[in-house]
Amino acid sequence: MSKHVTHWIAGKPFTGTAARRGDIHNPATGQVSGTVDFAGPDEAAAAVAAARAAFPGWRDTSLSKRTSILFRFRELVHAHSGELARLISAEHGKVVSDAAGEVARGLEVAEFACGIPHLLKGGFSENVSTGVDAYSILQPLGVVAGITPFNFPAMVPMWMFPVAIACGNTFVLKPSEKDPSAAVRIAELWSEAGLPDGVFNVVHGDKEAVDALLEAPDVKAVSFVGSTPIARYIYENAARAGKRVQALGGAKNHMLVLPDADLDLAADAAVSAGFGSAGERCMAISAVVAADAIADDLLDRIKDRVAGLRVGAGDDDRSDMGPLVTRAHRDKVASYLESGVREGATLAIDGRVHPVLGDAAEGFWLGPSLLDHVTPEMACYRDEIFGPVLSVLRVPGYDAALELVNANPYGNGTALFTRDGAAARRFQNEVEVGMVGINVPIPVPMAYYSFGGWKQSLFGDSHAHGTEGVHFYTRTKAVTSRWPDTGGDAVDRRAGAGA
Ligand code: NAD
Repeated sequence: MSKHVTHWIAGKPFTGTAARRGDIHNPATGQVSGTVDFAGPDEAAAAVAAARAAFPGWRDTSLSKRTSILFRFRELVHAHSGELARLISAEHGKVVSDAAGEVARGLEVAEFACGIPHLLKGGFSENVSTGVDAYSILQPLGVVAGITPFNFPAMVPMWMFPVAIACGNTFVLKPSEKDPSAAVRIAELWSEAGLPDGVFNVVHGDKEAVDALLEAPDVKAVSFVGSTPIARYIYENAARAGKRVQALGGAKNHMLVLPDADLDLAADAAVSAGFGSAGERCMAISAVVAADAIADDLLDRIKDRVAGLRVGAGDDDRSDMGPLVTRAHRDKVASYLESGVREGATLAIDGRVHPVLGDAAEGFWLGPSLLDHVTPEMACYRDEIFGPVLSVLRVPGYDAALELVNANPYGNGTALFTRDGAAARRFQNEVEVGMVGINVPIPVPMAYYSFGGWKQSLFGDSHAHGTEGVHFYTRTKAVTSRWPDTGGDAVDRRAGAGA
């Protein structure tokens, strides 16, 4: 049965009048499974107006009331995580266990936000001058917007809104038009948790909806996660409109394997971090930089493991890896196998011939693939592929490997595999990347740290969630106060008053 997804504004579904709609696909069958309304300026304005109207009441809602709603929201999302995971898998294609994992990681941010009373404490200095006190208070910004990518339809929005809402802001989410259903289900759960209408709103759509949010004077801050060209566009335009902005972009994550590494651990890591979620993760390993001395051995171990990977529909329990999100994206990813070979790489594993479980006729399939002898000038290395393709670059040792990572324009995540603590320590100090793993392939920071890359993987100066998230969604007010002694109230000053 075909579904129809619409906006969520002021605590209820909002169809609006927009003539434009997009198709939602099931990537495992290639079939259209539903449609989603696309917002134009009117729908975006309605969402911003609802958020604006809800702001004064929410800002003044006590911290204990806010946290009690957050706790209820956390429990409800937890209770419905299986349902959310199936919704995500049906539109994104990832296997249900992966989708459940993203809901769990997103929930960790909601759990972090439950501690907001502690995080919003300002400073206080008594007697900065005689009889004068100074203190700071952290206040919300107003209406804030989140614009999110297709690859984590629950987790990435949850990097943003639990913290923004806990800080007293109201929120307008524009999720990816490719997998919009999770956002609406989450909105329903917020309502059930007791969040006042208008504090959390969802508008669907594409550039038109995004541009309307960027131009809306009432939107005070924009959080974006997506590809680098759009991140730069959001950063420049939101800043020009006077908004606070954090825009997380694309990635090219390197995994360095030194000659003394545990090669079984490294091969396991390359396979899970390269092909998990079909490589459609901003922290996926894309380039394996292997020391010459162990490259052949490592490759053999990766090949053994890939042969056992089962590719199939996300809702098939046997599947380790699902299809890609759209036909166009699958074709683009597969094109790098051809261009890589044309430019001199060796196609060591061809995912186009990997078996697929069940009826694979029309799905957006590409199995795990590996290009060997890749060099930095090849398109498969220069571009973010965002699919199940590992590129192996061979280097003499640590210095050449580090130079490669630091010369890359992206700086989201990286990982070093070694048994040498001194090499690891040197690497964490010298590498120009925002998130670093030592024998850990996908070093996603916990919710109480902050998530973000360097260089072209982030525009702006605040990372997502953790204390940087609290900082991004609040502004500080510094108060200096004096209460001149007027002689006081005789009742209060009487010895034993009130006794
Ligand atoms: P995308 O940039 O195409 O889309 C992201 C969002 O921007 C979507 O909501 C989309 O509707 C909107 N958008 C698309 N084109 C636009 C335009 N021209 N003008 C205004 N808005 C536009 O990204 P995607 O394909 O959905 O997601 C994959 C990308 O996201 C990859 O590059 C991946 O690395 C990146 N990503 C980065 C992180 C991170 O933390 N750095 C996390 C997840 C994904």
